Amino acid sequence: MTETGITGVGQPSLPMQGVPQPRRDEVLNLPRVHISSHPVMAHKLTALRDKNTQPPEFYRLVKEIGALLAYEATSDLALELHPIETPMGPMTGERLAGGIGVTPILRAGLGLAEGFREVIPDVQIWHLGLRRDEQTLQAIAYYNQLPHQVDLQVCYAVDPMLATGGSAIDAINVLKRRGIPRLCYVGIIAAPYGLLKLSQTHPEIDIYIAALDESLNDVGYILPGLGDAGDRQFGTL
Ligand code: URA
Repeated sequence: MTETGITGVGQPSLPMQGVPQPRRDEVLNLPRVHISSHPVMAHKLTALRDKNTQPPEFYRLVKEIGALLAYEATSDLALELHPIETPMGPMTGERLAGGIGVTPILRAGLGLAEGFREVIPDVQIWHLGLRRDEQTLQAIAYYNQLPHQVDLQVCYAVDPMLATGGSAIDAINVLKRRGIPRLCYVGIIAAPYGLLKLSQTHPEIDIYIAALDESLNDVGYILPGLGDAGDRQFGTL
């Protein structure tokens, strides 16, 4: 784990200490929240959470879970008719109507974005750098590489851990200002606190996650969670 929760002068920063948190059962049935119930997802998630899973395997699992989440999150995308010729003759097929955007929140969202790319190779990837102020847990944008021209039917903000909800809320705010018709959030593990915050702040977005955990600890990490998703993907433990 990195120095999250530790200030520069060695004083512990405990931003969630004493903050009331909703229980898991209180947020289970929020509208527009989709929690995967796929057994393959549960299997991969257990391997991901295991502290003995090393970074190369961890990154591969994040990518695979990203592909499964992409499959679930894109199940209602709009299609348009598309005439083609098969070797046997003409037919009218279907294809995705309009572009699909994926915005990985750096750096932990990169593996999930790769998973999306496995399912839809021509997604537009827009990188967005948000980091947490360790004391206040507020999101700060340090990199924002979004294109000027936007012609998408949907954009997915992807970040593995929905903890306090700060980064996810900020990412959706940034994307909303670009006028994208539909926005969604995709993550691996959510805490009830962050899930409720995101859902209340942006009630019109769909939220896709693989699991809903119990709570946040005093420094804002998800319990039981998996530790720091960025560190575990990139071996910066
Ligand atoms: N970010 C992480 O990587 N892990 C957590 O548990 C919370 C935020």
